[in-house]
Amino acid sequence: MLQRTHSGRAGTALVAGGAGFVGSHLCDTLLSRGQRVICVDSYLTGSEANIRPLMNHPGFRMVEKDICEKMSFDEPLDYVYNLACAASPPQYQADPAHTMMTCVVGTGNLLALAEEHNASFLQASTSEVYGDPEEHPQREDYRGNVNCTGPRACYDEGKRAAEALCFDLLRAGRVDARVARIFNTYGPRMQPNDGRIVSNLIVQALSGTPLTIYGTGDQTRSFCYVTDLVEGLIALMMVRPNPEVPVNLGNPDEFTINELAKKVLEMVPSAAGLVQRPLPKDDPQRRRPDISRAKELLGWEPTVPLADGLRQTVDWFSANLAPTLRPEPV
Ligand code: NAD
Ligand code: UDP
Repeated sequence: MLQRTHSGRAGTALVAGGAGFVGSHLCDTLLSRGQRVICVDSYLTGSEANIRPLMNHPGFRMVEKDICEKMSFDEPLDYVYNLACAASPPQYQADPAHTMMTCVVGTGNLLALAEEHNASFLQASTSEVYGDPEEHPQREDYRGNVNCTGPRACYDEGKRAAEALCFDLLRAGRVDARVARIFNTYGPRMQPNDGRIVSNLIVQALSGTPLTIYGTGDQTRSFCYVTDLVEGLIALMMVRPNPEVPVNLGNPDEFTINELAKKVLEMVPSAAGLVQRPLPKDDPQRRRPDISRAKELLGWEPTVPLADGLRQTVDWFSANLAPTLRPEPV
């Protein structure tokens, strides 16, 4: 059983990837709870706009840096969250070698920093470590079905190697590390051109272009709203991982891609309809987290249903997309 180790009310958190979609929400929440936050990000897939409202916050500091480079900080660090890595398939495949180095060298650099500062460490891993799963739903003890030489391997295998590094240093008593296996998460601040399903469908519906369905659309995903995920990440950071176990964080409500498209079109009617595109290689056919461990160890489970989260996300994209992409008023 994990033991609570921190009050979570004070201290300094380094958030690598803090200018990204999930990372920027994490920075907001940590600051609102009284922590100081150092955001380290190269802006590879994140955006300055995500953290602009925080720039004048006295507890916030931005450091523009690639985590593949070594770093040092004079001030004490209490927590290191590693969210730095492109997460959308087209983005992590754009420079696969860099994705792999980010996962392995970058995670190694941040673990070294955590060791030096005696800081607690959280690695943002992924449901992709299960690959195209043969077990359903996915429990943490399932070892996965990953194509280790395919186009997704830079991410899947990179994240698997990063997990191994975390648990090696934990077992050696060098870093108080924990691993969150994050399942598909969505919400405001996804980049419109990010390429992931929720942002693609919403942007397409709002701009009146056909919604792209890869393959038959019968493949499934389970979508977690970003505020739920952030609560899970902070809860996991606040426990000591003994025994060392990864923890699934996601929403177990499972939908086909066709069902998701239907929900988006109900919220944003578009005459353009759907268009089928080829299914990307090694695209997992189904995915759903078993979150029993998170419930037991953290007392955490998601609270935002897909309809509510989608509404928030649609509203955010409507307000933030360029006016030319907004639908004509009816
Ligand atoms: P994102 O692309 O919006 O954010 C990633 C951030 O990391 C960006 O700001 C990017 O600029 C930064 N980054 C990337 N490589 C970097 C490097 N080498 N050095 C410094 N900064 C770098 O993605 P996200 O959805 O916010 O994902 C955050 C983390 O959560 C990622 O590690 C991802 O693998 C993990 N994750 C996310 C999901 C999801 O559905 N959102 C699912 C599983 C895992
Ligand atoms: N997908 C789709 N249309 C899109 C983008 C994605 O049909 O415009 C599909 C994709 O093939 C996959 C699912 O939606 O089956 C989720 O894709 P995403 O890239 O969001 O995440 P991941 O594959 O990493 O779970």
